[in-house]
Amino acid sequence: MMSKNWRPATQLVHGGTTRSAHGETSEAIFLTQGFVYDSSEAAEARFKGETEGFIYARYGSPTNDMFEKRMCMLEGAEDARATASGMAAVAAAILCQLRAGDHIVAARALFGSCRWVVETLAPKYGIEFTLIDGRFLENWEKAVKPNTKVFFLESPTNPTLEVVDIEGVARIANAVGAKVIVDNVFATPLLQKPLELGAHIVVYSATKHIDGQGRCLGGVILSDKEWIAEHLHDYFRHTGPALSPFNAWTLLKGIETLPLRVRQQSENAATIADFLAEQDKVAKVIYPGRKDHPQADIIARQMKGGSTLVCFEMKGGKEAAFALQNALEIIKISNNLGDSKSLITHPATTTHKNLSDEARAELGISPGTVRLSAGIEDSQDLVDDFARALKAVTA
Ligand SMILES: *Cc1c(COP(=O)(O)O)cnc(C)c1O
Repeated sequence: MMSKNWRPATQLVHGGTTRSAHGETSEAIFLTQGFVYDSSEAAEARFKGETEGFIYARYGSPTNDMFEKRMCMLEGAEDARATASGMAAVAAAILCQLRAGDHIVAARALFGSCRWVVETLAPKYGIEFTLIDGRFLENWEKAVKPNTKVFFLESPTNPTLEVVDIEGVARIANAVGAKVIVDNVFATPLLQKPLELGAHIVVYSATKHIDGQGRCLGGVILSDKEWIAEHLHDYFRHTGPALSPFNAWTLLKGIETLPLRVRQQSENAATIADFLAEQDKVAKVIYPGRKDHPQADIIARQMKGGSTLVCFEMKGGKEAAFALQNALEIIKISNNLGDSKSLITHPATTTHKNLSDEARAELGISPGTVRLSAGIEDSQDLVDDFARALKAVTA
């Protein structure tokens, strides 16, 4: 079931659905490793690619196929591969298209494991990299070398919610024949469309908003048919990052409610950002939906909303940040994000603890920096939770 004219809320409930002979309402879970053929000739034809159909679950399977098709509709992509985690998607998207001697330019503000893939893993195979401050287009231009093949970025970034001008980066990449990979987790597929902005490949950790209820890991890589056929198809088949069909089903159920959740989460994030901005114990608030975001002009061009995350800095540093987190009742301390439950984390001691002090400072992460992932709870209850917890902060 597919219609390009459907709006996202409809696509996410009906897109890509194929029903078995039983005509089930909810998508079926096909927990099967293999598939049987009516005859030897049928098996031969399937392997030759002369007939449509599945061969082995590492290559593709019916529940995963529904998830991939639904994600393609939402993203406006021609093809996709669902992976076992967001990192499987990122690693595959980068490594499948590069060889020794190639060069990656990446924004330095990346999810920790993504930075490890670029800085530590890729060089082991002779792939060079340059990390830059991705906010300024001239840095992308300056970092280009004759062997540059991939530009990699995340926008908004974790945790300080800086943005990268995707359209500008794509223009520079196209001029030198490089591919732009966007990790679109923080924006969600609803609030930012990297392919429309000129990016070539989009990756998600489906673990975040797409599941949205803290249940399973998953990821997805989306691009045009040609890139997937040329670079990802064989890599994916033979290295085996495939998503479990059970998790594909969980994600299919998750994305049915993605628009409802992201709308409520974004509203809650905006309300909390405005509340925190007025508080004496808070030094600054960064929220892409606020007019005082330093890159509000780029955000207005490339995002349809302010996102579900808020970053803020406590005046009293680490001590105040810890006291605040410990005093919250509804909002839970967790490094996950995109969940229907509001989650808060202190990046300097958790998600970004492995970076040097200088690298953290470069990213704008101070001892007082706190990241909130807004859930779908009642916004007034969340504001009340913050108001009460702030009273407990004495630093
Ligand atoms: C969580 C996350 C990842 C990694 O995803 P997993 O599903 O945990 O493997 C990659 N990039 C970003 C921006 C993330 O938030």
